[in-house]
Amino acid sequence: MQYWREPLDSHRIVIARGELVIFEDRCKGCGFCVEYCPRDVLALAKRFNRKGYHPPEVVRTGECVNCSLCEMICPEFAIFSYAEAPAAAPAGEASEVQP
Ligand code: SF4
Ligand code: SF4
Repeated sequence: MQYWREPLDSHRIVIARGELVIFEDRCKGCGFCVEYCPRDVLALAKRFNRKGYHPPEVVRTGECVNCSLCEMICPEFAIFSYAEAPAAAPAGEASEVQP
């Protein structure tokens, strides 16, 4: 994202990163998580799960920001996100993790 103005403390902000857990066999292939992910992290896989649906898979590794929208929107409780450990701040700087 390109900002018109850059905040003065932007060098101290660490963007949160998330990891995903996908329970493929719970998925019914509705595509909500794919459609509404703000970072376009997911796509429906070509393979089928045990129910005969296409589950989501990560297509943009490292782009998840742990917003948990996919987790909240999934009607089958088939996808969850959790926070990755934040990267270390530059020496001598305190860091703030931003969602
Ligand atoms: S947690 Fe947010 S950014 Fe990560 S995959 Fe889910 S909707 Fe996308
Ligand atoms: S929202 Fe849930 S059920 Fe729908 S495609 Fe994503 S993981 Fe599957």
